[in-house]
Amino acid sequence: MKKIILTLFLTSFYSYVYCWGFFGHRMINEYAVFLLPPEMLVLYKPNIEFIREHAVDPDKRRYAVAAEGPRHFIDIDVYGKYPFDSLPRKYNDAIEKYGSDFVIENGIVPWYVQTMYYRLVDAFKKKEFSKIMKYSADLGHYVSDAHVPLHASSNHNGQKTNQKGIHAFWESRVPELLANKQFDFFIGKADYIRNPGNYIWDRVLESALAADSVLKVEAGMNRKFSNTSKYSFEERNGVFIRQYSSAYTTEYHERLNNMVERRMRMAIFSVASFWYSAWIDAGQPDLHEFANKKFSDDDLKDFESLNQAWIKGKELGREHED
Ligand SMILES: [Zn+2]
Repeated sequence: MKKIILTLFLTSFYSYVYCWGFFGHRMINEYAVFLLPPEMLVLYKPNIEFIREHAVDPDKRRYAVAAEGPRHFIDIDVYGKYPFDSLPRKYNDAIEKYGSDFVIENGIVPWYVQTMYYRLVDAFKKKEFSKIMKYSADLGHYVSDAHVPLHASSNHNGQKTNQKGIHAFWESRVPELLANKQFDFFIGKADYIRNPGNYIWDRVLESALAADSVLKVEAGMNRKFSNTSKYSFEERNGVFIRQYSSAYTTEYHERLNNMVERRMRMAIFSVASFWYSAWIDAGQPDLHEFANKKFSDDDLKDFESLNQAWIKGKELGREHED
């Protein structure tokens, strides 16, 4: 029993959990659906379960595809200081200046969001049901990642400042404890994004600017709390695991002036707005005609093999880092 607890503790606490965590990603994609206009709801509403569940496919893909990792972040501070003017916002210009190895190694999320966006526009134009669904779920994931401050920092898990675990603390522990209880998700309607490139860069720069507070505020609290009040054992699926205590988590959220909630709300708005804009840019195709279409057997096989690769990769503790 002790061994099981220790294993769980190590995997749940120290593993580098990417992105909003499965909980947050699913929630963001699901809530974004409700910001869409009626012409889009006819398709997204009957498929909301898909949009929600497949919000985490890009994270699962990290176990199967070597090129997946850099699509989720950008260590933007390697390019100098805010607002990082020396870094060209266009991918080809950045590659020309810094070389593709360097650019890819340090993360490509703002560019990959745009790649996915144009794929979605194309899928809408061709009225390809399964691609619209898959690209919407994927795009929702990458757009959400761009809203996480530590996805825009080379100190992504506090490894440089002795704060290991802060990544999952901010993006998983805080929303899992507080989102359902107290976050306000009344957000309004999706908006048309005139320039997807400028839009996502603005969000990335906000994230980069906030990364400093994410780290500093926790460091300040860490000095005040003893280890016994910072961590607690809480039951999860019948097993007690050690994690940041509820009191520590709540105080962190308050000291950050509800930053996790603000970024989550912004992510929901952005995801819906990207979907909406892709539909507009595709000429507002009528979605009624294939709203209740089913995925093909090949699609279902692909989903299953991704799942298997993820489960196997997790068991082996292996994940592509490049
Ligand atoms: Zn991710």
